[in-house]
Amino acid sequence: MTPITITLLLAAAALAGATAAWLLVRSKLMRKKTSNIVDLAAARRRKMREASLNPIRTDVPKRKAGSVSGAEIRGFTPKNGDARLQSCTRCQKKSDTVGFYVDEYGKLVGVCNECRKSAKNRDLMPL
Ligand SMILES: [Zn+2]
Repeated sequence: MTPITITLLLAAAALAGATAAWLLVRSKLMRKKTSNIVDLAAARRRKMREASLNPIRTDVPKRKAGSVSGAEIRGFTPKNGDARLQSCTRCQKKSDTVGFYVDEYGKLVGVCNECRKSAKNRDLMPL
């Protein structure tokens, strides 16, 4: 072996070593970056999973309580109930179809079907 080939071999070995080291560092960096992304995605997924699980957990006791109906929770009054009957501002008759208007003084008036015509004649603003 000539000294030239030895130096060439050494240079090639050094180059190969350097390349290998560079690739190793690069792959490590890449892995670090991708692992960060994976961690974030996993955290997001975990968050989503928790968020999707939590409402169900909080809903279960509400449903188990059971004695309170949905209508009571929402404060909903059924259409045919007596609670819906409102008295007419003009004739004081109870009516389930009360139309609301604003009079000349900006006051709210609820009028029944019979008094609605007079409200329209007075040119009140309907609500
Ligand atoms: Zn009326």
